[in-house]
Amino acid sequence: MYRKNEIIELNITSLTSDGDGVGRAGELVFFVPNTAVGDTIRAKVLKVKKNVGFARVEEIVAPSPDRIEPDCPVSFSCGGCVYRHISYEAECRAKRQKVTDAVTRIGKLDASLVKDIIPSEKIDGYRNKAMIPVGLNRDGEVVMGYYARHSHHIMHCLRCQLSPPVFNDIIEDVYAFLKHRPGLVYTPQNRKGIRHIYLRYAEMTGDLMFCVIVGSRHFDGEEALYNSLQEKYTQIKSIVVNVNAEDTNVILGKHTYTVYGSDAITDTLCGLRFEIAPEAFYQINRSQAERLYEKAKEYAGLTGKEALIDLYCGAGTIGLSMADRCKRLIGVEIIPEAIENAKRNAEHNGVGNARFICGDASQAAEQLRKEGIRPDVVVFDPPRKGLTSELIDTIVQMSPDRVVYVSCDPATLARDLKLFTEKNYSVKEITPYDLFPRTSHVESVCLMSRKKPHN
Ligand code: SAH
Repeated sequence: MYRKNEIIELNITSLTSDGDGVGRAGELVFFVPNTAVGDTIRAKVLKVKKNVGFARVEEIVAPSPDRIEPDCPVSFSCGGCVYRHISYEAECRAKRQKVTDAVTRIGKLDASLVKDIIPSEKIDGYRNKAMIPVGLNRDGEVVMGYYARHSHHIMHCLRCQLSPPVFNDIIEDVYAFLKHRPGLVYTPQNRKGIRHIYLRYAEMTGDLMFCVIVGSRHFDGEEALYNSLQEKYTQIKSIVVNVNAEDTNVILGKHTYTVYGSDAITDTLCGLRFEIAPEAFYQINRSQAERLYEKAKEYAGLTGKEALIDLYCGAGTIGLSMADRCKRLIGVEIIPEAIENAKRNAEHNGVGNARFICGDASQAAEQLRKEGIRPDVVVFDPPRKGLTSELIDTIVQMSPDRVVYVSCDPATLARDLKLFTEKNYSVKEITPYDLFPRTSHVESVCLMSRKKPHN
């Protein structure tokens, strides 16, 4: 039996889906963060449970060939990157394995269905969105940056390599403004002041949005801050304030108002222009998202005659990028601002065959089915928790020829694919896309088709 603080030697043989190294010691499997497959390490035991243990690296006895020198001072403590100490090639290997493991273990599907992962062109500076928490440390000093791994503790860090340099410059300026004004920072006690800085960047038009999330409207020096940012960063086309006084981990509150410029910024994607409100989802790695959507379009196999349903459609990006190849499109999304964007995006791009519904995907799909809508193709891109079993039943009853599943969580993807395969659909192919280099996240797009013809 191993005891806390004991030093053990481990060979790291695989990685967990969160990117921690896995090594075996006798009957026990140990999880060790910040290691690489092929490492031999001396590790300090932190905790031992029945079948698993947790340990921390004390010394790298023999490094894995995958190892590289991390190029960020906070890479081991920050909750963002988990792969800065291994080569990008090794990271892509680990991510493909994560998808294959989920698909075979949870989905009970054949590993050969998982194609090669498509790496990202940009490994750093790819994020077009950043949400920076603002708080006070124990000494009452202002801290801004990123959450430490597995916690809600703000690690003071103003520059992140995943963000474009302009984000980091703006964050430094906001910090300079707040540094001597700790009274302007939100705390659970005062319930006012600044909680988050939220930045968004439309890569193709250069437009920037600056959003400040506050506990209550108005703070001292507000005008001066906005004016100085506007003057220095002429690419800022929109300054908005979002009010969130709730004691919650949800970042955005219900009320947003514009204090300068437009309510939304505009980017181009797949040859179309998209207006994106602060509340609307937009893929954070634009060029890689474009390639992912191209694959989704290929999988949809449209000829111009089909009825297409796009569930969880956000500002309409996936469906609208396919609208020129189908007869009609119906998009469904729960956030009203995103649906407003989707409608306007259809109009601005001259798409006349689209209809958008604001509502819960499961309920709206059931309603459409009752109305007698029979789509030829259904695409969806749900949040991490995946689909409901009711929605899967509804889609199966609608009996589309093809189903295209875009997923940001291999585990829920695999769980849902299993249900589809038990109900007259077969999985044809799954292609992983690395949309989030250096983090543990991986996106996938999957094609399913109906096994038996219509009754
Ligand atoms: N397809 C879009 C958005 C994908 S993100 C794109 O690629 O840009 C997932 C979307 O699902 C978000 O816009 C979120 O607001 C929406 N959503 C979350 N829960 C939902 C639900 N129950 N019903 C419908 N949409 C939902």
